[in-house]
Amino acid sequence: MTLDQQTLDRFVDLGSAGQSIDRADAVAILRSTDDALPGLVAAASRVRRHWFGNRVKLNYLVNLKSGLCPEDCGYCSQRLGSEAGVLTYSWASPEQIGEAVASGIAGGARRVCLVASGHGPSHRDVERVNGLVRGIKDAHPEVEICVCLGFVDEEKAAALAEGGADAYNHNLNTAESHYREVCTTHTYADRERTLEALKRAGLSPCSGLIAGMGETDEQLVDVVFALRASGAHSVPVNFLLPFDGTPMAGRAELTPQQCLRILAMVRLVCPDVEVRAGAGREAHLRTQQPRALEIVNSIFLGDYLTSEGQAGRLDLAMIADAGLVVDGEAPQPVRTPPAPTVTVRRRGVGTDVLANA
Ligand code: SF4
Repeated sequence: MTLDQQTLDRFVDLGSAGQSIDRADAVAILRSTDDALPGLVAAASRVRRHWFGNRVKLNYLVNLKSGLCPEDCGYCSQRLGSEAGVLTYSWASPEQIGEAVASGIAGGARRVCLVASGHGPSHRDVERVNGLVRGIKDAHPEVEICVCLGFVDEEKAAALAEGGADAYNHNLNTAESHYREVCTTHTYADRERTLEALKRAGLSPCSGLIAGMGETDEQLVDVVFALRASGAHSVPVNFLLPFDGTPMAGRAELTPQQCLRILAMVRLVCPDVEVRAGAGREAHLRTQQPRALEIVNSIFLGDYLTSEGQAGRLDLAMIADAGLVVDGEAPQPVRTPPAPTVTVRRRGVGTDVLANA
C-alpha cells in the first residue's frame, strides 16, 4: 500500500473522529519510504493539532530509587546484574526529591513522574510515596503526579490513589509474542494485571513501549494496538538506549526517519491520547526532534532515569522555536525575539586555521 494523498486523508478523517487506522495501515506506515515521510508527518500533525492544538505537555522524571533491581529486563540499565555503571541508591531523601521536583516544575513541567526501581512496592514503600505525593501536592497543587513503582495489586494501587497520585505508569514495552526475548523474570501477563489493577483503583493509566529491541514491524503494531485496547491515557514511546553492560548493548536498529514513522503510527492508532516522545528522543531523532513535536504532544523535560537528556532550556527553546507552547502556561505574550548571536569567522580561507567541514 502506498501512502497516497487519499490514504493520508482517510487517516486524518479517522483520527479526527478519534478512530484508529487498521493493522494493515499501521504496518504500511512502518514500511513506507522516506519520500512518503513529509506527507505522513503532515497527516499525523493534523490529527495531533485537532486534539491538542499547539500545546506540548512537559513531564519531569525523578528517580526515587535507582538500580539494583531483581528483575532482568534486557533493555534496562537498572536490571539484575547490570554493569552499565548508572547511579545506584536506595530511597533518595525527601529533601533531594523535593529539590528535583521544584526544579522540574520551575522549568515548566506540569506532570511529575516519581519512579522507583524494583519488582514492586511494599506497604511501607506505598506509605513513603504517599508522603512524598502529599508534600508535592501541598506545595504545587496544579501539578499532576504519576507514580511508577513496578507491579502492584488493586489494594496498593487504591492506597496510592487515596494518597493523591493521579496516574500510574506501567509500560507494556513490547508485544506479548516478543516479551520472552526481553525479560525472563516476569511475563507480559504480569504487566497486564498491574495495568488492570491500577485502572480499577481509579488511577489514570500511563503505559508505553520501547522500540528498537529486535521486534518485527508486526510486533510493534501489536503492542500499540494492545496499548489502545488497554485504555492508556498517555503513551510514552521510548527508543532503546543500548547501555553498555546490558544485554542490548550496541544494538542499533533505528533511524530518525523510522522513529518518525513509529511516532506517526502511534498517533494514528491512538489519535486522541497523549503520545509522549520518551527516552532516546535526543539520541535517535537527533536533528529531527522538532519534527517529532508535530506528532507527539508530550515530552520529558531534561534528564531521564539513568541517562541525561538535553538541557531543559534547549527543550523549551525547541518548543518555542517550533511555534508551540508549553501546556499549562498562560497564552504567551508576543516577545521581541533576541538578536541572533553572530560569530565572526576566524578559520578557513584567510587564516591559518583548518576550514570548518
Ligand atoms: S522492573 Fe523496571 S527497574 Fe527493574 S529491570 Fe525491569 S524496567 Fe528495570
